[in-house]
Amino acid sequence: MLINWAVVPTCLPIIRRRCHGCASQRLRASGKFRVNANHKLIDTWLLALCTECGETAKLTVLERMTVRTIPPEMLDRLHANEPGLTAELLQDPDVQHRNRFTLDWTDAWRLDTAGSDHLDCDVLDVAVRNAARIPVRPTRLIADGCGLSRGEVSRLITEGKVVSAARLSGKLSGDFTFTLKR
Ligand SMILES: [Zn+2]
Repeated sequence: MLINWAVVPTCLPIIRRRCHGCASQRLRASGKFRVNANHKLIDTWLLALCTECGETAKLTVLERMTVRTIPPEMLDRLHANEPGLTAELLQDPDVQHRNRFTLDWTDAWRLDTAGSDHLDCDVLDVAVRNAARIPVRPTRLIADGCGLSRGEVSRLITEGKVVSAARLSGKLSGDFTFTLKR
């Protein structure tokens, strides 16, 4: 039986980047953008606030772009401070790289399973979707989703009763599948 699980964000992750006002490494997206137009060139920043001192940090989204090269719907979303756009941009590798930050997803996601009806099947094929690329421990997901302890999951992996093409030790930040045989 094939079932689908999903790792889904429950809130925005913490932005890990040095605050300029204090020694904190934790910023929270404000949900607001700043758009600055100057002679048909547009700069855009995503505004974030230090969780300790409240200092505002500006994360570059668009830099000196000519207006006509920016899709109109993008400008609409920026001017509307659309919440979904903040989430998209925080997860954008280019934005992360340009602004030198990483994301801390602790307590900012949950596992959606298809309920527990399937758990007594002899063989279970599970496809785990992780669209936001949140780093998660597969052993923890399997334990939570199957109602097992992490120790039991480790034992099942050792015994070859949980198998996957993905490496199940450590953390994964993408889609993967596994099979559980009882
Ligand atoms: Zn600070």
